[in-house]
Amino acid sequence: MTESKPDTGHEHDRQHQHHGHQPQRPDRSARDERTAHAGHAEPWGFASLAIHAGQEPDPLTGAIVPPIYQVSTYKQDGVGGLRGGYEYSRSANPTRTALEECLAAIENGTRALAFASGLAAEDCLLRTVLGPGDHVVIPDDAYGGTFRLFAKVYQRWGVDWTAADPGDPEAVRAAVRPGRTKAVWVETPSNPLLGVSDIAALAGIAREAGALLVVDNTFATPYLQQPLALGADVVVHSTTKYIGGHSDVVGGALVVADAGLGERLAFHQNSMGAVAGPFDAWLTLRGIKTLAVRMDRHCANAEAVAQLLVAHPKVAEVRYPGLPGHPGHEIAAKQMSGFGGMVSFRHADGESAAVELCGRTRLFTLGESLGGVESLIEHPGRMTHMAAAGSPLEVPADLVRLSVGIEDRADLLADLAQALG
Ligand SMILES: *Cc1c(COP(=O)(O)O)cnc(C)c1O
Repeated sequence: MTESKPDTGHEHDRQHQHHGHQPQRPDRSARDERTAHAGHAEPWGFASLAIHAGQEPDPLTGAIVPPIYQVSTYKQDGVGGLRGGYEYSRSANPTRTALEECLAAIENGTRALAFASGLAAEDCLLRTVLGPGDHVVIPDDAYGGTFRLFAKVYQRWGVDWTAADPGDPEAVRAAVRPGRTKAVWVETPSNPLLGVSDIAALAGIAREAGALLVVDNTFATPYLQQPLALGADVVVHSTTKYIGGHSDVVGGALVVADAGLGERLAFHQNSMGAVAGPFDAWLTLRGIKTLAVRMDRHCANAEAVAQLLVAHPKVAEVRYPGLPGHPGHEIAAKQMSGFGGMVSFRHADGESAAVELCGRTRLFTLGESLGGVESLIEHPGRMTHMAAAGSPLEVPADLVRLSVGIEDRADLLADLAQALG
């Protein structure tokens, strides 16, 4: 992963490409020799990679955490004499490089790119792999902002989409338009209905169609699910959520296994410019260090919350992949190592009861977003998924979504019990 890093993504190479020359390949720097040992070349487990990949102590001072390189440009040793491949921070910045190397290692990819938001990552991916006249199969249960990007932005640029139930591979196959479908998009578990899709089965369908399988792995995180190993071509993250984990930074990422695709994405990342800033990259790296322990606690707390809800008379239906009655439970058990921290449920007394409940919790804070250490509650129909109203992606009006945090389990259960009444 680190081997190809300095060859790419900087302005110098891009200008040469633009003029039709072969890109100049800067010498491999000392930095890259070092980080090669911190990458997934080592037979390290997830938590070790999360803490160390891309993050060798600073060569100058021994600082154990990558410094925040709050800098836009770099001194060159003579014209074109770059130190470690850095020339301008849109193209590459050492703090962002550390994050990108760490993300590639923990997702088991060859290349990762960090963006200013999850949607910026999605936009970069889509403008890299799609053009006018192309078609995408999107899930009928997707993050509202992803749906809006297709329905309200790309449609105007001549990119067409069909929504299909990704939990039913045959429905996805039927939605493919031979020769035109360039990507199959899936979120699993999905937002906000916690639907589960079979990544390996969808990868086969996408491959037959000559399309890329894109997996939004935001809910599962690489700790619980590794889509590239299951055959996906691209992993998308809103690092704003579990990866950052502390509700203090907005960011996104793309991770790929194929180096050629990584190269094309890096070209577009630099050409379009919605990169993660150094401080955001640093906060995200800091969050990743505790991802494994946080996810263990998120999973355990969510499981207990799901059990409480299942037994509660005011709850009509609970959506949590860890419940044996969940339609995707077996696939989730096969492709995930835990069921995650998100739980959705339908209030037995309808929409207004669901809305009122969201205002009655004390430890669960009413707010959008998810994946932070603190528990959140929201009403998707009126909040995160308002953009999907009236579309095939509309969500039930009595739905409540919980992002179960890592507070004391007893306090979380007591809060929900008092709010449900
Ligand atoms: C939040 C989210 C996004 C968008 O990410 P931003 O960082 O908010 O731009 C995409 N997919 C999923 C599943 C999300 O939850």
